[in-house]
Amino acid sequence: LPLMKSSNSLSFSLQAKMSRPVQARRLEGTDKNIWVEFVKLAATYSKVNLGQGFPDFPPPDFLKEAFVRALSGENHMLHQYTRAFGHPPLVKILAQFFGKLLGRDLDPMTNVMVTVGAYQALFCCFQAFIDEGDEVIIIEPFFDCYEPMTKMAGGTPVFVPLRPKAPKDGKLMSSEDWQLDPAELASKFNERTKVIVLNSPNNPLGKVFSRGELELLADLCVKHDVLCISDEVYEWLVYDGKEHIRIASLPGMWDRTVTIGSAGKTFSATGWKVGWTVGPNRLLQHLRNMHQNSVYHCATIAQEAVAQGFQRELELYGKADSYFVQLPKELQQKRDWLVQSLDSVGMKPIVPEGTYFLVADISKFKSDVPDVPDSDEPYDSRFAKWMVKNKGLAAIPLSAFYSGPHKSNYNHFIRFCFAKEEATLKAANDILQKWKQEKTSP
Ligand code: PMP
Repeated sequence: LPLMKSSNSLSFSLQAKMSRPVQARRLEGTDKNIWVEFVKLAATYSKVNLGQGFPDFPPPDFLKEAFVRALSGENHMLHQYTRAFGHPPLVKILAQFFGKLLGRDLDPMTNVMVTVGAYQALFCCFQAFIDEGDEVIIIEPFFDCYEPMTKMAGGTPVFVPLRPKAPKDGKLMSSEDWQLDPAELASKFNERTKVIVLNSPNNPLGKVFSRGELELLADLCVKHDVLCISDEVYEWLVYDGKEHIRIASLPGMWDRTVTIGSAGKTFSATGWKVGWTVGPNRLLQHLRNMHQNSVYHCATIAQEAVAQGFQRELELYGKADSYFVQLPKELQQKRDWLVQSLDSVGMKPIVPEGTYFLVADISKFKSDVPDVPDSDEPYDSRFAKWMVKNKGLAAIPLSAFYSGPHKSNYNHFIRFCFAKEEATLKAANDILQKWKQEKTSP
C-alpha cells in the first residue's frame, strides 16, 4: 500500500508539470485532416471505396519481381542503410531519366534527392524555403497539405482560384474549363512572395496546365524572383494525347524550380513511399540539410526496386510496352467508364485531362441529403458522409481542397478516384444506378 501511495503522488506531480500547453505554436490550426477523417469513414462504412487516391490493382509484375529480387538476393547489404540522399542506383537512373526529359545533364548526387514519398519532398521544400512572413501562392483547388505545410513553416498562404467557365452547349465540363485569371494571378505577386506551388496534373480536378498557362506562371516567377515547388506526381497520367509540360524546362525556370515525383503514383505502389526531388544544387542543398536533420535515410529495398523499374522504363521509353504508356491507356478507359456512369445518373462529371481523379456535381442529388442552414460544415462534406453511410460509396468532398473562406463557394462537388479494378467501378455503378431508380420511382 505505501507503494501505491507513492506511485499516486508521483503521477500527480508528473501531471502538474504538464499543465502548460504541450502543443508548439506552429501546430495551431493544422490539426484537422481530411484524410484521417474520411479514410476512417470509408473503412467503417464503405462497400465501394472511390475516396482516397490509391489503385486497388497490383503494381506491374516487373516492379514486384525487382522488389523480391532485392529482398532475397545475394546482396544482403540492401537490408542496411544506404546513402542518405538517395540509394546510388536510384539517383543515377533518376538523373538519367529526368535529364532526358528536361534536356539537361543532371548530376545524380546534387540534382536529385530521394524522399519518403512526395509528401516528405513537399515538407522538405516548405521547411527549407519559407521563413516567417513569406507568402506562398497556392492555386485552388489544391492538394490539401500545402496549406498546413506553409503555416507550419511560418509562411502565409495566398490563394488564387482556378475559375470555371461554362462548357459549350451540350458538352460535359472539362478540367480544361477551369482557368486562372491572368490579372488576378499577377495581383497576388509582391515583394513578400517567396514560392508558388504548382500541381500539374492537378489533384483534385485533373487539370493539365497548358504551355501558355505555364509560361504565364514562369514569367511571373522570373519577374518577381519567386521559387516554384512543382508537384508532378501524376506526370504520367495524362489523357487524350495531352502533353505534360515540366515547368522546369521553361526559360529561366530550372534555377528556381524543385520538381517532385512519386513512385507511388508512377508505379501504382503508394504503400512503398518512395518519392524524389529534382532541381539545381542551389536549391537541393537546402533540401539535403532538412532531410539529414529529420528523416535521413529512406528504405533501401524499395529504392533498389524503383531503380530497376526506371531502368526498364528508360529502355522502353515511348514504346508500346512501357508502363508509362500502358497505365494511362488503361486509366483513360476507366475514366471514360466512370464519366459515363456518373453522367447517366445525373451526377455531372468534370472530365479530367489527367490524374486518376474525377470531380462530379452533386446538385441533382441535393434533395436526398437535406441542407442544414448555418452549419459550419460545407454541404459537400455532409453529403459525402451521408453517401458513405447510407449508400456505401466513398468519395471526397471538393471543399476539402479549398481554403477556409472559399469552401462555401465550391460545396456541391465530390471527388472520385478511378484507379480501380473494373469490378470496383462496376460495383460503384450499381450503387449509383440503384440510387437513381429509387429517386425516380414513386
Ligand atoms: N502530391 C499530390 C498532388 C498527391 O496527390 C499526393 C498523394 N495523394 C502526394 C503529393 C503524396 O505522394 P506520396 O504518396 O508519394 O507521398
